[in-house]
Amino acid sequence: MPKYDLIVVGAGIVGLTSAFYIKKNNPDLSILVVDKAQTYGQGNTARSAAGFRDLFTSPINFNLSHSTIGFYRHIQEEAGFNLGMQFVGYLFLLPRKNRLDEQLKSLGNKTKLRYLDGDQISRVDGLNLEPSKDIAEILGLERIDHAVLGENCGIIEPDLVCSYYYNELKSLGVEFSFSTEVTALRLEPENPLNFPGEPFLWQKKRIGSIATSRGDMISDQYLLATDVWTTALTDPLGVDSHVRPKKREIFQVSGDIAQKILHTPDFNNQSILPFTIMPHYGVYIRPAPKENSLWVGVADDIGRDFSFEEQPEAREEYYQNNLRQVLEAYWNRYDSTRLTSMWAGYYCYNTIDKAPYIYRSMNVTIADGTSGSGILKGDSIGRYVAAVYAGKKEAELYGDVSVDSSLLGVEGRSVPVEKIIL
Ligand SMILES: Cc1cc2nc3c(=O)[nH]c(=O)nc-3n(C[C@H](O)[C@H](O)[C@H](O)COP(=O)(O)OP(=O)(O)OC[C@H]3O[C@@H](n4cnc5c(N)ncnc54)[C@H](O)[C@@H]3O)c2cc1C
Repeated sequence: MPKYDLIVVGAGIVGLTSAFYIKKNNPDLSILVVDKAQTYGQGNTARSAAGFRDLFTSPINFNLSHSTIGFYRHIQEEAGFNLGMQFVGYLFLLPRKNRLDEQLKSLGNKTKLRYLDGDQISRVDGLNLEPSKDIAEILGLERIDHAVLGENCGIIEPDLVCSYYYNELKSLGVEFSFSTEVTALRLEPENPLNFPGEPFLWQKKRIGSIATSRGDMISDQYLLATDVWTTALTDPLGVDSHVRPKKREIFQVSGDIAQKILHTPDFNNQSILPFTIMPHYGVYIRPAPKENSLWVGVADDIGRDFSFEEQPEAREEYYQNNLRQVLEAYWNRYDSTRLTSMWAGYYCYNTIDKAPYIYRSMNVTIADGTSGSGILKGDSIGRYVAAVYAGKKEAELYGDVSVDSSLLGVEGRSVPVEKIIL
């Protein structure tokens, strides 16, 4: 087995973008990317709602997302590589008094927002602004009073985004080993004395090799881009991953009414319903024009445990008993839509401030905590990881934005709590 300069564990969006910028900045490095899946982009990257937005309250989340959107747009529009990016917008339907108003307004001078009053919203065919009194009381719903449309937002195809970085990596000579599961990171002393029981308390430590389903692999540096699986690899080392998993389910609904809602005009050039956030509980509808359907989801909190399964499954009863009622209250004839597919994955939460963690421990760089928005921040995360890997003080993001590269670390971290989590 050859010795590499760097082994990247995880070929999701974070592993691919990180490997890309590290290699781009250091063309001579030998890099191997390993993943237990059969190919790239098969983890949570494949299970996402695949929306993008730069509507984040914490400045670092705003920078990571805004800059990534700019780069993806450049790749699609100028470099001519289709990423399936459609600027359909993010539409927040809002009741009269709510906390989101102030938060969205504060972004008005940083990105493109359109404000819609009740009259304009009332023209949306099939949208019922005022749920019936009984239902409103039981579900705790209020009248839709106005809306805010984020115009630098929309939908994207994560498999195409991953293909872009994968092809670039292949042409730069980066190697891949799929169907390769890393089972342990082996701790060893930097200067071995060859005594049993090493490494001792007083020896400087490093990861010497990794155990995998294809045998041991060796490199000087390691990068863990393993999302919710990071904890299983770092716990035995006594290194904290700082993340916790929460299961997220997506439900695809189809039929005539779903198509009618999908083809809502007036918000964008595509005459497609924007990625729409209902006024309560963060229930969202993601337009899926490719499948002529809608995807429905929510990032619920209390009552949603932190348990973890290797292959999580969506539950129909969750949709029927939780999401469907909210949607039926606001969309006429929603009851005639059909549930045609569903799947589940995990958000890898930084439970404190909901921004990624990117930090080093020994000769390992760790990038996790994407908190439900790793694809739309993917390019910036890769650039940031490359800066941390190289020990640079600043990470240069696309669009001439530079950010302090210690900001997303563990020590001295000072990131305001993100208020807009979907
Ligand atoms: C339902 C849902 C909706 C979402 N919606 C959005 C959205 O609209 N927009 C957005 O930007 N983000 C969204 N996200 C979040 C987004 O999917 C993640 O932030 C992103 O995919 C994280 O990328 P990653 O590369 O860190 O993780 P992953 O894509 O999970 O990649 C990690 C990789 O590591 C590999 N791996 C793990 N452990 C090992 C091991 N021991 N050995 C070998 N390989 C290993 C896995 O096989 C996997 O391929 C959503 C997520 C879910 C679940």
